[in-house]
Amino acid sequence: MPDETPTTNPSGLAPESLTGWGRYPAIEGHTARGEDLEALSRSAVLSRGLGRAYGDSALPPRDAAGPVVVTPLADRILAFDERTGVLRAEAGLSLATLRELLLPRGWFTPVSPGTRHVTLGGMVAADIHGKNHHVAGCFGRHVRALKIRTGDGEVREIGRDREPELFFATLGGMGLTGHVLEVEVTLERIETPWIYEESERRPNLEAVIETLAEASASWPMTVAWIDTSARGAAMGRGIVMRGRWATKDEAPARPPRKNPSVRVPFDFPSGLVNPVTIKLLNALYYRKHSRRKVAHVVHPETYFWQLDLLDEWNRGFGRRGFTQFQCVLPSSAALYRELLELFQRMGGCSFVTVFKDCGEAGEGMLSFPQRGTSLAVDIPMRKDGATQALVSAMIDVVIANGGRVYLAKDAVATAAQFRRMYPRWEEWMQVRRKYDPHGRLRSAQGVRLGLCE
Ligand SMILES: Cc1cc2nc3c(=O)[nH]c(=O)nc-3n(C[C@H](O)[C@H](O)[C@H](O)COP(=O)(O)OP(=O)(O)OC[C@H]3O[C@@H](n4cnc5c(N)ncnc54)[C@H](O)[C@@H]3O)c2cc1C
Repeated sequence: MPDETPTTNPSGLAPESLTGWGRYPAIEGHTARGEDLEALSRSAVLSRGLGRAYGDSALPPRDAAGPVVVTPLADRILAFDERTGVLRAEAGLSLATLRELLLPRGWFTPVSPGTRHVTLGGMVAADIHGKNHHVAGCFGRHVRALKIRTGDGEVREIGRDREPELFFATLGGMGLTGHVLEVEVTLERIETPWIYEESERRPNLEAVIETLAEASASWPMTVAWIDTSARGAAMGRGIVMRGRWATKDEAPARPPRKNPSVRVPFDFPSGLVNPVTIKLLNALYYRKHSRRKVAHVVHPETYFWQLDLLDEWNRGFGRRGFTQFQCVLPSSAALYRELLELFQRMGGCSFVTVFKDCGEAGEGMLSFPQRGTSLAVDIPMRKDGATQALVSAMIDVVIANGGRVYLAKDAVATAAQFRRMYPRWEEWMQVRRKYDPHGRLRSAQGVRLGLCE
């Protein structure tokens, strides 16, 4: 833990340009970094972890009256009970550090996103989900208590039975109900630190959805990649992957190696990621996978966090950046075919494309998952606003079919679109008004979506 004195860009110092993982949009803001979140959060408008949300949820609004607290220096483990797996830690602790410390001792987070570079605070604020949502729910389901500074300045200890409405507004509340200072969560005991994985190539969208559903009926972790460039009968062809923690008998004599990680050394030219290059990449990736089912035992980093093998891969999209559109819809091939046709017609392209099954809705008032299938596509930003128009048109299809988009990825939705996707928004607003009567906590996304009055 570096020894750093709290700093808060005193006025007069130049603000920094802040972005999310997609590098769109960029907003100038002041930051406050340090180990003492309780002190730093007193005058701050928002907390920010490792900046892995794609859009503008971890960015201050343009007229911010205070700094953004950047939390990763506050990363102490405060308590861990080896009998029950209950961990209490500061909100800036990253999943990467947690994995280093606890996986060799037989513990893992019950829910993990597709990158380990996230903080506990960010996992709570987005109520993140993983490949096991259909069995384990969101991260919030495993959170027992939070220490939080609310917008009215109070520091509170909250949980399912202590100020529950604030607790459930905070799970998935995108940092707008308070600065999370500490998190208490129950970890999962695992038999071995390795993953047994099977993968299978499927020829079209219908087959992918069917195989994914079959896999989710009996496997704890399932996910699929699909080729968004394929058209006609091959539309949505892809690879379905299913996994579980390996048993002691399956554990190999020699531990599986993690693939070395490589850093993208510079910003690629904007425009290099386009429908032509992506079509080529998609076809190569699809064909690289054998027609036959493949089964092996892999390192958990290879399984959970494949994208982390390419450090700073977001630079591949150039300075204009990209946006991720992630939605959940009923598990219907016809619906997804309609969405993919619109995507292709409006010039969309994506290589990092993830299809997942979701179980019951999360407990958080603004949690994203609900029963159905989720699709995530990474779309390069174009100069002329065409990407925003494409995403907005896709959001309209999602609304028309009772789905929603994930706020941790969103940079485009309007307040009107948001309200039609999140039916508990009014209940959430009431909680926010109660604990932040002067509307001190604010983010660029919150302002855009009408959440910060
Ligand atoms: C490659 C990649 C793969 C991903 N895969 C998944 C996935 O599979 N499933 C999934 O659910 N998500 C996924 N995500 C999204 C990511 O898990 C979430 O955006 C997460 O919130 C990021 O955590 P962070 O610490 O970087 O938070 P940031 O990005 O810094 O902040 C995200 C939000 O959390 C709030 N916040 C952060 N810390 C605090 C705090 N201490 N108190 C209050 N609010 C806080 C911020 O205000 C902001 O609203 C992925 C992201 C990437 C880049």
